[in-house]
Amino acid sequence: MNKSVLITGSTSGIGLGIAKRFAKAGYNIMFHGLEKDGAHIAKQVGEKYDVKVAFSSANLLKSEAIEDLIKQTITSFGALHVLINNAGIQYVSPIEAFPNNKYENIIAINMNAVFYASKAAWNQMKKQNFGRIINVSSVHGLRASEFKSAYVTAKHGVIGMTKVLALEGAAFNITCNAICPGYVKTPLVEGQIKDQAKAHNMTEDEVIEKVMLKKQAVKQFVPLDAIADMAVLLAKDSATTITGSSFVLDGGWSAQ
Ligand code: NAD
Repeated sequence: MNKSVLITGSTSGIGLGIAKRFAKAGYNIMFHGLEKDGAHIAKQVGEKYDVKVAFSSANLLKSEAIEDLIKQTITSFGALHVLINNAGIQYVSPIEAFPNNKYENIIAINMNAVFYASKAAWNQMKKQNFGRIINVSSVHGLRASEFKSAYVTAKHGVIGMTKVLALEGAAFNITCNAICPGYVKTPLVEGQIKDQAKAHNMTEDEVIEKVMLKKQAVKQFVPLDAIADMAVLLAKDSATTITGSSFVLDGGWSAQ
């Protein structure tokens, strides 16, 4: 039987890159995201790699919708082997102008949804005596940057939660790890380039050179393939003792 994976936020950016890599490896894929063409993206990937797919646009701001998303995955494929908590949003602003609702939504989507999804998947993974939870945190789970109070808080929180779930899952072959990328060129970052340009009063090219890649020793965006390969490795049967860790793919940013 093919294994099944649910990847939140997989109809865009990093999630889509991960989904294609898992499809290539023969996994059935539960696609998820708010993109209007999500169902079409899912179908195309399923046909290309000859795997089963399903799609949901569950709103991660709502815990009941997250629980339904997990149920839908188990109903579609009869199992849930790998949960990749990837969906996330960003907002960049000095704290005094940071809108409360933006702060609350970032905490809800980037952090609280990881809790609700993992909790809802837990019994199924226990029953299977197999579970791989992979949280897409960020180098901002380990380091701070100005103007990102909500994002940095949420991403640090996810790393803490990753460690707790690793301990609780150890007896049931449920592992939990975090992947911490530096900058990856996705729609989320394209939006940030614009916001940062405003916050720093710079052109967009200056933001890429002087703000984003400034902290990375390797002066290039992190490739999607590197993140997808890391996720596939963490999902393997043989990865049972790899747990509670954060895997940093940040071009040397946090080495400093
Ligand atoms: P993206 O904007 O391309 O994709 C985000 C996905 O999340 C989309 O599918 C979107 O529909 C979904 N999403 C957002 N809000 C949602 C909601 N309320 N309900 C349901 N789905 C929702 O972003 P990305 O760059 O691919 O980011 C993916 C993850 O990687 C995020 O957690 C992000 O913080 C993290 N990350 C990104 C970078 C980067 O440089 N791009 C670096 C480090 C970490």
